[in-house]
Amino acid sequence: MLELQGIAVSPGVAIGKVLILDREGYRITRSQIDSSDCQNETQRLRAAIAEASTRLDEHRQRSTETIGEQVGAIFSAHQQLLLDPSLQRDWLQLITDRCYSAEFAVSSVLSRYAQAFRQMGSETMRERASDIRDVERTLLEALGGAPMQVTGGDGQSVLLSHDLTPSETAKLDREKIIGFCTEVGGPSGHTAIVARGLELPAVVGVGMFLHRIESDAEIIVDGFRGRVILQPDPATVERYQQRMQARVSSARKLTKIRDLPAVTQDGTQVRLMANIEFPIEVAACLDRGAEGVGLYRTEFLYLGATSEPTEEEQYQSYRQVVQAMRGKPVVMRTLDLGADKVGAISLIEPENNPFLGLRSIRLSLRQPKLFRTQLRAMLRAASAGDLRIMFPMITTLHELRTARMVLRQVTDDLREEGVELPDKIQVGMMVEVPAAVLMLDHFIDEVDFISIGTNDLIQYTMAVDRGNEHVADLYAGHDPAVLRLIKQSVDIAIQNNVDVSVCGEMGSTPSTALMLVGIGVRSLSAPPASLPRVKQALRAVNIEDCQQLAERVFQFTTAREVDAYLQSRFAELLPEMALGV
Ligand code: PEP
Ligand code: MG
Repeated sequence: MLELQGIAVSPGVAIGKVLILDREGYRITRSQIDSSDCQNETQRLRAAIAEASTRLDEHRQRSTETIGEQVGAIFSAHQQLLLDPSLQRDWLQLITDRCYSAEFAVSSVLSRYAQAFRQMGSETMRERASDIRDVERTLLEALGGAPMQVTGGDGQSVLLSHDLTPSETAKLDREKIIGFCTEVGGPSGHTAIVARGLELPAVVGVGMFLHRIESDAEIIVDGFRGRVILQPDPATVERYQQRMQARVSSARKLTKIRDLPAVTQDGTQVRLMANIEFPIEVAACLDRGAEGVGLYRTEFLYLGATSEPTEEEQYQSYRQVVQAMRGKPVVMRTLDLGADKVGAISLIEPENNPFLGLRSIRLSLRQPKLFRTQLRAMLRAASAGDLRIMFPMITTLHELRTARMVLRQVTDDLREEGVELPDKIQVGMMVEVPAAVLMLDHFIDEVDFISIGTNDLIQYTMAVDRGNEHVADLYAGHDPAVLRLIKQSVDIAIQNNVDVSVCGEMGSTPSTALMLVGIGVRSLSAPPASLPRVKQALRAVNIEDCQQLAERVFQFTTAREVDAYLQSRFAELLPEMALGV
């Protein structure tokens, strides 16, 4: 039995069989071999190198004839790389010294090289990284591998990978993959968010461990505690199975409060809404008693697509969500592409600091056609229910005004075309950049609502990449600096009679949700699966309890003190729930 610790990002437990995905999406059937097989394995690799070299030669000839010498030369360069003696030495050494399988040796060495080139920054070097990736693919194919559909698996499979992008995660088939675990990744990256949306137990940021693992080995992924247990002993499996059963029965109890309001004992009402990424999640929203969709991350339609979704395709998805919510509010956020949300369609050049780069509203404003097409689709879907439009990552007043101006133009165009639109559509902005909080008293007159995106607000306040496991300990939502910014935003919204909600993941933890309500928040939006427990907590306390939590947290000066206090006070207020956390 081998136990590893990572970062828990999506609650739940998966007990199944290991399925390893290499860094470029190829399935690696075995990572290690018996020491007695090393000789055969080196021969297998040599044969594959020869075969890959022949294939590259064929490609070179064909391309030279059909496209020209320049393209043919690319395959020559690949062939040279493949036959590089120092690379071959590294591969063979991993097989003989560490008993790596040929595939795993190839993938480990080439990924390391590709990574080194990728980090060099210049465009030429990054292209070199893609060449290395191509050679890896050719060689893995010669070893008998095929690109794995991330949809592979057999209903028992726990996917292990160096990394998974949000779009790869979005394509996982829940019928086949029951959980996943990655070597890298931070607590609040979008991969984590998608995992929660899909309700797939997940642990990320475990560190380099894939080389220690056999495909098909038994594994437990504990998405509550961030633990990964390999080859668990029978007693551990049984303990986990019992916990899973207890969870199922407590979830069943929670369905009883599904249709009851989220109201404190003494009558303070809170609106609990859901965050979704795909129209299909609407079922989970209704099932968990959501009073609306507080955040629809519309960019996921782009992330899963290989060509740009048309206006009609977008319209159909939006309409489906609005209709299914039967008159309940649906807050649609305009595209928040970029940073870690990059799919197969390339809209931006690679950037050195993508979270500080051309992402989100900045990208939409630079690509008016993209933006207008989406706004047209949204406005057309608005007549199907209560659709509200929200702009992400607003940092300056100029951005907000420009976005609103484009929206007005698109509205006028549609009216001229005779499309029926509601008289008034609410328009809001996300507050997720400290600059927006500092200037909120000016923004507030120009919006109908604000929604605090704590995931990014924490990232930009603490200067911590939300998807980086190396600084995960610094990504602290309870840091007093973050709490002050949240309170400042809520106070300004209340003073100006503007609706305020929190749609970052902070609202999904019951104790933090109570504190936010104490600060004055009356609307929370969180992943559907988290809503029942938040409601259970709210229904068990008085508003004064929440206010006391909020007052007390502002007396601390570190996130650690705030954490400790919230946990202990929550345990006093709701001992049964605290035990189940
Ligand atoms: C946020 O930043 O808090 C948010 C809700 O948006 P996203 O997680 O999609 O960046
Ligand atoms: Mg955000």
